[in-house]
Amino acid sequence: MSFSWNCPFCSSTQTVVPDKHTVYDHHIKFEHQAEGLMMSRMSATSCANRSCQRTSFRIQIGGATYTGSSWTFKSGSILFSQQIVPQGTAKPQPSYIPSAIVEDYTEACLIRELSPKAAATLIRRCIQGMIRDFAGISKPRLIDEIKALRKAIDDGSADRSISIESVDAIDAVRSIGNIGAHMERDINEIVEVDPGEAQALIELVEMLFDEWYSAREKRRKRLSSVLNIADDKKATKSGVVVANASVVNAMLGMPQASDSDNDVAGAD
Ligand SMILES: [Zn+2]
Repeated sequence: MSFSWNCPFCSSTQTVVPDKHTVYDHHIKFEHQAEGLMMSRMSATSCANRSCQRTSFRIQIGGATYTGSSWTFKSGSILFSQQIVPQGTAKPQPSYIPSAIVEDYTEACLIRELSPKAAATLIRRCIQGMIRDFAGISKPRLIDEIKALRKAIDDGSADRSISIESVDAIDAVRSIGNIGAHMERDINEIVEVDPGEAQALIELVEMLFDEWYSAREKRRKRLSSVLNIADDKKATKSGVVVANASVVNAMLGMPQASDSDNDVAGAD
C-alpha cells in the first residue's frame, strides 16, 4: 500500500511505495490481561530523496483486534505512538539565528508528541524571542507584540526584512484552534493544544527562521559579494594605473626610449 509521507530528516514530501516501508507487528497476549489483546508495531520508512535516503522508525503500542486475516489497532486504543529515529523533527538551524531561540525550537520539536502544550509554550517563547530580537518590539504579551508588528508593517516603520506575508502567516496560525488563546495568555499560563496545533506553530517558526533570518543573511552575503566585486574592480583599476604608471616610468627611465621613437619612426 502506498501513502503520502514527509521525511523527518529532509522534509521532502513523497509517496512511499511498499519497497521503502516495512512493518513489524508483535502480538501480546497474557492470561488475565486487563487490556485484552495488545500489539506493538515498529515501522521503518526509507526516504526516496536521493540526497537523503535515510531511514526513520516509529513505534506504536495499543489494544489490538484480529479481523480474521490481519491484526490491526483497535480504534481509539493507541497507548503510545512515537517516532524514535530521528528523535523529534527539529531541522538543523544556522548559527546566525540566536542560540536561545534555536534551543527552544529544538526542544519544542522533541516534545511535540509527548506534550503539545509544553511544545506550544516553548514555541510561543520562540516567536516572542524573534519579534524582540529581529523586529525590536517588546511587550509583555505575545499578542500585543504581534499587533505592534502589524502596525509597524502597515505604517512602514518595520524592518524591511519583515514581509507582510510573514505577519499574515502569524495571524493565520493564530486562528487555528487554541493557538490564538495561547498567544493572548501570560507565558506562565498553560493552554491545551493538540499535536497538530503544536506542529502548526513549529512550522510557523521554521518559516520565520527562513523569511527573516535566512533572507537577511542572503541579502547580507549578496551585498558583501557586490562590495567585494566593487573592491576588486577598484583594486584592478588602481592595479592597471600602477601597471600603466610603472610602464610609463620604466619607459621614461629607459635610455632607449628614443629607440621606440625610432622604432615607431622606423615603422612609419
Ligand atoms: Zn529524506
